[in-house]
Amino acid sequence: MSHRELTGWGRTAPSAADVLTPVTRDEVAAAVAHPPARGVLARGLGRSYGDAAQNAGGAVLDATMVDDVTAFDPDTGVLTVAAGASLDHLMRALVPRGWFVPVTPGTRHVTVGGAIASDIHGKNHHRAGSWCQHVSSLRLATPTGTVEVGPDQDPDLFWATAGGMGLTGVVLDATVSLTPIATSRALVDTDRADDLDTCMAVLTEGDDDYEYTVAWVDLLPARGRVGRSVITRGRFAEVDELPSGQRRDPHRFDPQPLVAVPPLVPSRLLNRWRIQAFNEAWFRRAPRERRGEVQSISRFFHPLDGVMDWNRLYGPRGFLQWQVAVPFGAEETLRAVAHEIAEHRVPTLIGVLKRFGPANPGPLSFPLAGWTLCVDIPATVEGLGPLLERLDERVAAAGGRVYLAKDARLRPDLLEVMYPRLGEWREVRDRVDPDGVLQSDLGRRLGLC
Ligand SMILES: Cc1cc2nc3c(=O)[nH]c(=O)nc-3n(C[C@H](O)[C@H](O)[C@H](O)COP(=O)(O)OP(=O)(O)OC[C@H]3O[C@@H](n4cnc5c(N)ncnc54)[C@H](O)[C@@H]3O)c2cc1C
Repeated sequence: MSHRELTGWGRTAPSAADVLTPVTRDEVAAAVAHPPARGVLARGLGRSYGDAAQNAGGAVLDATMVDDVTAFDPDTGVLTVAAGASLDHLMRALVPRGWFVPVTPGTRHVTVGGAIASDIHGKNHHRAGSWCQHVSSLRLATPTGTVEVGPDQDPDLFWATAGGMGLTGVVLDATVSLTPIATSRALVDTDRADDLDTCMAVLTEGDDDYEYTVAWVDLLPARGRVGRSVITRGRFAEVDELPSGQRRDPHRFDPQPLVAVPPLVPSRLLNRWRIQAFNEAWFRRAPRERRGEVQSISRFFHPLDGVMDWNRLYGPRGFLQWQVAVPFGAEETLRAVAHEIAEHRVPTLIGVLKRFGPANPGPLSFPLAGWTLCVDIPATVEGLGPLLERLDERVAAAGGRVYLAKDARLRPDLLEVMYPRLGEWREVRDRVDPDGVLQSDLGRRLGLC
């Protein structure tokens, strides 16, 4: 055990906890059954941006030590794996055998446990839903015992765990259905749009044609209109669609980081002017329309993984990622939010827009049928707190919500508005954790525990 300061990926709001490193499932379950004062929480690879994987003054279980694959059926692609395994580890083992994870976020460096606790989504949400929709069962260590749950076995607990931010128990293992792939390359179409409305129209009309879609949007344009964007959409390529030199090893997968950011970066390296120059170059570099470009998995799905420790670019004060979803029909809110961010001259390097498919039964699962917008914002931006609070209120009024895996600052009263089924989630949590053993900084801040 060590006493350590922990942060999320955004490096704001550090807090110290006793970090335990269990190496067996029994040790994990024992730590949950006999927790220290101020409770216990699982932590994966710390890729949630805010304080979801922190437990100030209490215990944090580093869940990454238990990461073995217990069963894999190469005919069906059904995998049973310990929750501490990372998606990077799974892809390295399984892509060469022709299988891909059903849902991947923008980084491979998340654990299966973290994927379940945040019920993560990817570029294919409109087609495939979120991570937990591909889980047929999981074993959960709760303060009242270890249980196996699934969509057909204690579904209330299963769905409360999907997006439940680790507050219903520690996931030990999960059984997940993988996606067969003929090659490890994506066939990608790129389009540029000159403003937000054009981007939304292009995304809407292409929903049925593409497995994976996303748009990078510029909310700080030096020239042109707010929301000018680069839209990339694609699917996995068939072998005969690869250039001949790649056909001999169609499942090749060996991504490496290209560069690393040094530990000490000044606070204002990413200032408004540099970000604007980057955004301009990014937009101009993209083709106005390109069809069928062959891209590697890492280039298409995980470009940020090419830069090790890129979160340090924002300097020691860190950054926030604000991600919201608003239902279809609330496009006016989306436009208003984008324009307010632009008017405030918020230096956002990465703005992402995507269409979600239908929500699943998880009361705290983030995706809902509608649009999701996500922006990175340096924590040093003046007036950021009041700005984001105004935007939160607009989003809540439109029936939308903030993504808890990214959150570091939401006002607790808005949580109830954004997640109207919170009461159902609380009932399940009270059943499995009547004494409030599972604790996190996020949970206390938002009144979840
Ligand atoms: C570059 C980048 C891109 C991203 N892109 C996306 C994206 O496209 N879509 C998306 O949905 N998310 C995205 N994320 C967010 C990320 O997928 C989630 O925050 C995910 O939960 C992180 O997993 P982790 O293993 O790092 O978990 P941590 O950040 O360590 O923990 C996150 C939560 O999971 C809980 N947890 C961890 N392990 C367990 C366990 N074994 N049992 C129970 N609870 C557990 C923790 O208690 C905590 O509440 C991105 C993050 C980054 C840094």
